[in-house]
Amino acid sequence: MSNLGPLINSQLNNQFSEVRVRFAPSPTGYLHVGGARSALFNYLFAKKNNGKFILRIEDTDVARSTDESLKMMVQDLVWLGLEWDEGVHPITLKDMGPCAPYRQSQRLHYYKKYADELLNSGKAYYCFMTDLELETVREKNKADGTHAHIESPYADWTLAQAQAEIVTGKTAVVRFKTKHLRKDYILNDLIRGEVKFPSDMVGDFVILRSDGMPVYNFCCVIDDALMKISHVLRAEEHLPNTLRQLMIYEGLGFPIPQFGHISLVLDDDRQKLSKRKGAVACDNFRRDGYLPEAMNNFMALMGWSHPEGCELFSMDDMKNLFSLERLNASGAVFDRVKLKWMNSQYLRAMDSQLLWKSILPFLTEAKIQLPNDLTSDLKWQMQSVEVFKPKMEIFSDSVSLYEVFDDSKFVIHPESDEFLKIETTKMVLQTWKDLVSEIQTEFMTTEDFMRIENEIKTKANVKGKNLFMPMRVAVIGKPHGTELKLIVPLMKKSSLIARAEKVIAIC
Ligand code: GLU
Repeated sequence: MSNLGPLINSQLNNQFSEVRVRFAPSPTGYLHVGGARSALFNYLFAKKNNGKFILRIEDTDVARSTDESLKMMVQDLVWLGLEWDEGVHPITLKDMGPCAPYRQSQRLHYYKKYADELLNSGKAYYCFMTDLELETVREKNKADGTHAHIESPYADWTLAQAQAEIVTGKTAVVRFKTKHLRKDYILNDLIRGEVKFPSDMVGDFVILRSDGMPVYNFCCVIDDALMKISHVLRAEEHLPNTLRQLMIYEGLGFPIPQFGHISLVLDDDRQKLSKRKGAVACDNFRRDGYLPEAMNNFMALMGWSHPEGCELFSMDDMKNLFSLERLNASGAVFDRVKLKWMNSQYLRAMDSQLLWKSILPFLTEAKIQLPNDLTSDLKWQMQSVEVFKPKMEIFSDSVSLYEVFDDSKFVIHPESDEFLKIETTKMVLQTWKDLVSEIQTEFMTTEDFMRIENEIKTKANVKGKNLFMPMRVAVIGKPHGTELKLIVPLMKKSSLIARAEKVIAIC
């Protein structure tokens, strides 16, 4: 048995002088909330332990890695406020820190150097098996039901023998030799406790492809070692990789960091979180107008728990209270309803001026036309924000709420028809229009509105639905929506009159 992991709960293995953790995304798409959560936990762990948080870019999959994806991921991490100490610069994307370069595609010389070291010491070998040969062996193993690993006939070739073959133009992958490592490995995972890897779990695995490009497991170990990473906190799905990585650490004599594998993020049907059920990209939440504070709070609770069971807490609280002991080993459910609720709590606690500034880009993007003097009228802004704050969960909700003020979007919805047909409606609307016209100011007060409503009640001799519904239609074009006494004082007299005329015309 080989016990490679240090004891659970010990904060720093004595081979490392400081806590250094990393988030290592592959820029092949968007930043998934599961990835963002790993970044958050690494960040918090670094902060709690006065350590360093490093952003490394795992872009050896040249065909799938793009600059666009890298930029988007960096933008999302900046938005979340997970500032890193080393890595690519958040704006210029240039290297920043003593272990540069931080992009794997620029570190190929290191991988070559260590692959050569393994080849020279006989811990790795060139394998010339063709794809067809490999496929045939795999098919045969499957048919036999043995699930055996590939046994390469080149495993025992000398390096000189293999090099002579390469000189003739033959291509080869480099495989890590595992035959002599057939023992059970035990990892003391910081989150999952003792994890046993059976001796025959892996066969000789590829570390360099035939085009010379290194594979994830190899680059990851070299970089984690050279960057002196003390703790590797990453998704549970990497657990099977960890065995291969432990073997490479051992083969190269590198100090082994502590590992913690964070549980999966699940959908509400307890399947792996997928796009089918809705947004999973951080970018979507940013664009929909979620607050980074709420996202961090929510993500922290997907796997971690506050020592006093609190649901809402600040980043500072998290930095002070974070501990790996409170990470849960079972899957965490991504509850979109709870996230929205949590966001609404943060949004409602926002200062109104800041909230207005935050929603304005959403209104502008949706081309909501408010009269110019309203968008620059601080009193109006604050009053409207106070009215809508309790109705907003995310910033983008502001679009449908503020739409009522856009005269160009005023339409009379079909569900208004039944109220337009009522005998008393024309009288109600005419009285409404006349009384609004009598107002001496550009905006009426709530009291003005209440008085007008009462006067109509008397003059037209109607009450209840027959009074309120037609009035709503005259103001917002439909019988249901925000309470009139809240929004009418935010609407210009001229706009109220023009809308009323349109409705009266079809009564
Ligand atoms: N590039 C890997 C990923 O995005 C990193 C895994 C790790 O943290 O070791 O999943």
